[in-house]
Amino acid sequence: MLNFTIGPVMSGQEVLEIGSRQVPYFRTPEFSEIMLENEKLMKRFACADEAARTVFITGSGTASMEAVVMNVLTDQDKVLVVNGGSFGERFVQLCALHAIPHTEIKLPFGQPLTAEHLVPFDGKGYTALLINIHETSTGVYYDKQLVGEFVKRNGLFWVVDAISSFLADDFDMKALGADVMITGSQKALACPPGISAIVLGPRALERVGETTVKCMYLDLKSALSNGERGQTPFTPAVGILLQIHERLLQIEKNGGVAAEVARTAALAADFRQRAANLPIRMFSPSPSNAMTSYEVLRASAFDIFTTLKDHYGIWICPNGGELRDKVFRVGHIGSLTVDDNAALITALEDMNHKGLMG
Ligand SMILES: *Cc1c(COP(=O)(O)O)cnc(C)c1O
Repeated sequence: MLNFTIGPVMSGQEVLEIGSRQVPYFRTPEFSEIMLENEKLMKRFACADEAARTVFITGSGTASMEAVVMNVLTDQDKVLVVNGGSFGERFVQLCALHAIPHTEIKLPFGQPLTAEHLVPFDGKGYTALLINIHETSTGVYYDKQLVGEFVKRNGLFWVVDAISSFLADDFDMKALGADVMITGSQKALACPPGISAIVLGPRALERVGETTVKCMYLDLKSALSNGERGQTPFTPAVGILLQIHERLLQIEKNGGVAAEVARTAALAADFRQRAANLPIRMFSPSPSNAMTSYEVLRASAFDIFTTLKDHYGIWICPNGGELRDKVFRVGHIGSLTVDDNAALITALEDMNHKGLMG
């Protein structure tokens, strides 16, 4: 299998090997030590404040999105949600479900957020902003500097879903002034799905302390107090946490997060250049290093996904809804190489010669 989806992605050999072992009992000093190191490395890689904390939630990225909405926002907030696709829509739904007053900045699919979109919301009494810094459904990577300045001048509390961007694009939580960063195990962490992580800055920790949540499993107060001793309130996905540990140590050993971002950026640039002669065009003018979304000019994007899967053994990411036949996505995260890029291009060129690309 050659997997160019945006998650789950392909894991490296060492991570796969850990997945083949028996899962150990976890209420031990040895596991606590691993968890404390996971927390330390996550904080370092996110460039978080010294006083920040990281919690690991057993559940996919959406579990952490919901945990954040429940634990740091209340009905006293007035929240702005950037909604440029299905992940932005998910934040909107979570705010609605948890009765958090909110306004959405709805963007057409594939369009970047500009200063003009934000101006109408300056000085209007908003208290927080939620954004998926890489809107993975369309492949738009938002201008984090632009958002950071808006957040700063309006004194907003800032939640960044960086689930598909963390480790693929640079992210300095403290310099940007972000209060929360969320990521997940099956994206650039390149581990199996099942764990998501939340990095909470000092202001976020304060908010968690002041909020009462009506949920036992996603109570971050309890996650934080257990985390002080490297533990979780309930049985976590122990095996995945061990795989995350291996992956974080590897990144550290190979030059840290900057080297990982550079590797991903080079892989993305290589693919984009190789794809330039195919009858497809980049759908987003501001892509993340993690992924490229392509608009298919004369064929069905979904059919291309199906043919690649069934006849070439290569997976790309299809789209749903309105973009189903128009856009497919190619991931650049996980254990991929330039030779893998070449293999996908060869397959697409072959399909093109056979008239399957329109
Ligand atoms: C993958 C992803 C999520 C999480 O989705 P899950 O299926 O719950 O893991 C959330 N936001 C973004 C931007 C994502 O790319």
